[in-house]
Amino acid sequence: MDLSYIINELAEDRDEYFRAVAPPIIQTSNFAFKKVADLRKSFEDEYADWLYSRGLNPTVEILRKKLAALDGAEDCLVFNSGAAAIFAAVLANVQSGDHIVSVSNPYTWARKMFDVILPRFGVSVSYVNGTVTENFSKAIRPETSLIYLESPNSWFFDLQDLSAIAKIAKEGGIITVCDNSHCSPLYQQPILLGIDLVLQSATKYIGGHSDTIAGVLSGSGKMIERIFNSEYNTIGSGIQPFNAWLLIRGLRTLPTRLERVNRTAHEVISFLKGHPRVEKVNYPLDPDFPQYELAKKQMKGAGGLINFIIKANSSQTIETFCESLEHILMAVSWGGHESLILPKCAGIKPEAFDPSNPEHRSLRLYVGLEEPGYLIQDLDRAFTTINNLS
Ligand SMILES: *Cc1c(COP(=O)(O)O)cnc(C)c1O
Repeated sequence: MDLSYIINELAEDRDEYFRAVAPPIIQTSNFAFKKVADLRKSFEDEYADWLYSRGLNPTVEILRKKLAALDGAEDCLVFNSGAAAIFAAVLANVQSGDHIVSVSNPYTWARKMFDVILPRFGVSVSYVNGTVTENFSKAIRPETSLIYLESPNSWFFDLQDLSAIAKIAKEGGIITVCDNSHCSPLYQQPILLGIDLVLQSATKYIGGHSDTIAGVLSGSGKMIERIFNSEYNTIGSGIQPFNAWLLIRGLRTLPTRLERVNRTAHEVISFLKGHPRVEKVNYPLDPDFPQYELAKKQMKGAGGLINFIIKANSSQTIETFCESLEHILMAVSWGGHESLILPKCAGIKPEAFDPSNPEHRSLRLYVGLEEPGYLIQDLDRAFTTINNLS
């Protein structure tokens, strides 16, 4: 299916709503019936008709069709957060006594579910270094029911070979789940590489304006229908119509925004690599990246996230660098219009800061939609400020 068709036309029937170009927000909790027989049919199969907006809603439906098509999936569900999509994907595929193999350092709240919530129900987890595919085969036990992936992985952007791991999992009858937030479906389609369930935080690139929290979970029609009829409707964490409408609006400009962010990222990377205060730059599609070949094989782009290591003897130097930025905001998240900086040292107590550990001196930069020169000037000024310190 054509990308332009998915974004501009798919699932939109303008004759249904006054030929309006922008779809309506069907802000209703429930839907009325004229016949008891129709109501009965809806009770028997809520996935087939409009009954109640915790389940299906027409505005959300437009979004679902587009997002599933972007993922190359048969179907998808949209949640009120990426975290809710993670929870539903995992909860739907484990039971007491089961074992999960997860990439080490999955997203914070995935890790919390694995370490704190699931053990209460007798589900255990092993973490493996995902850059080595054999680590997954070695960690699989007879009771392993799920492999959890995130590629690129948080912070240093380590990749997993998705098609190789999907193959190992299939041989063992194990479900694979992959967090695809980093790439968005435009730059990576894990379903086409054999992954069973792919999820993303739509808060990031899909929304694109830092004003909506949402998550997407895509997979086979059968799997998604099963999740709809149990976890989705039971937890009640589906997206609201207004937020779905904001995501449809975000999708209209997704390819344009990503193209721009990609181009700016490359300019910022050249600047950072040439700066004497920068020890190292990590970016999956940079030829210096250790897994560059794999990145080229399974990703079409790496977007606006850059990780770099600053030369500094103290946490204070890094704090001054961040606080000296005049345009780049210091905040979590990414994928919006605005550039963001996040220093690793914010998660480390000052007395535990170890300047000999490069990770402690690392920063995550998200490049937004500003002019590249505007951002480079801001970074350059902050480097000058810390140079003047010592
Ligand atoms: C932000 C994020 C999530 C969680 O998404 P929310 O929409 O914030 O709930 C999950 N995985 C990754 C990799 C993320 O960056």
